[in-house]
Amino acid sequence: MTQRTSPNMGEFLHLRGQNLSKGEPIALPLVQSSMYHLPGLPEDFPNYGRVSNPTWTQLEHALAHLEVAPCLCFPSGMAAISAALFATLKAGDRLLVPADGYYVTRILSSQFLAKFGVEVVERDTAEFTEGGFDGFSVVFLETPSNPGLDLLDMSAIASAVRDAGGITICDNTTLTPLGQRPLDYGVDIVVSSDTKSMAGHSDALMGHVATRNPEIFNAVEEWRKFSGCIPGPQEAWLLHRGLETLDVRYDRMCTSAALLAERLANHPAVKSIRFPGLENDPAHALAKTQQIRFGFLISFTLETEAQAEEFINSCALLRPTTSFGGVHSSAERRARWGDAVDPAFIRLSVGCEPVEELWQAFSEALERVSKEPTVSS
Ligand SMILES: *Cc1c(COP(=O)(O)O)cnc(C)c1O
Repeated sequence: MTQRTSPNMGEFLHLRGQNLSKGEPIALPLVQSSMYHLPGLPEDFPNYGRVSNPTWTQLEHALAHLEVAPCLCFPSGMAAISAALFATLKAGDRLLVPADGYYVTRILSSQFLAKFGVEVVERDTAEFTEGGFDGFSVVFLETPSNPGLDLLDMSAIASAVRDAGGITICDNTTLTPLGQRPLDYGVDIVVSSDTKSMAGHSDALMGHVATRNPEIFNAVEEWRKFSGCIPGPQEAWLLHRGLETLDVRYDRMCTSAALLAERLANHPAVKSIRFPGLENDPAHALAKTQQIRFGFLISFTLETEAQAEEFINSCALLRPTTSFGGVHSSAERRARWGDAVDPAFIRLSVGCEPVEELWQAFSEALERVSKEPTVSS
């Protein structure tokens, strides 16, 4: 079994400080330059802004501390996912993706990779292991799945895929390296949308790839260099700043989510709920074996679409928005994007507000919607 790792968060906050010379800024400098002063031989120096940037390098140093693995930063989660897929797949390969995971990964695969001769196979999270993994070059995992919050057994799947000669990629966006550590369970590559709770302030899109496999790392780095799919220094800087409070924000969000999930589960207006931290959730037992935290996303269903809309739009402490992981609690009906869920299904992202204020706002909104006559939708 792979060694279990966990980042030391005190050390994390002093990563930069430990290597400073007298007079250097404590905060990370934002280096906005496409060119570097480069007389003579260019080896081992930053040479061009598409290839390297000191702000990215510092960000990647911080990300590597969190993942306990070398990392490469990208301008969005999808850029990181594209890099991982394009760097590992070739014509004739088969790729397995979850049918109920983040939908853009499926579109990217079926619309672009398929055109280059990659056979794309989709399976539901609940039946992911059925049929085995023979003949798959790459198996893409998302656990918990977004938005259904079903789980995949990372350790069992990673070893089955490896035995069959393939590699695994896990999208760890919803839990972050503080909530789940796929590389320690034998997964080859972690991809993440750092647009969500990693950056955490809803003001930047970013992503990263983490892997302990040097060949894969080089391939992903070359993809970035040659595709030109690179982050702007300003976004890299914003993510670095967000990471400094990740531990505090994430702890608050997960702790609040656990309490709110218990209360929502017992509320008469809530028809059903999924949260891996609930004792009677179908994913609870597996979550306890492979997650450090149960996360800050709660999926629940009210009676009707109209009730769900009203709850989201009338709750004082909820922003109606797609995307999640910000300091502000937010929610949306996933059916509006065509996810295969009940029209009254709500994905709730618990933010950093004090939990009792949140509960008060939620219960007031639930009270309001349940008083209204039930119109069938
Ligand atoms: C948002 C998200 C992505 C895509 O990230 P962007 O930063 O929007 O490109 C990928 N996977 C999951 C699970 C996501 O939630």
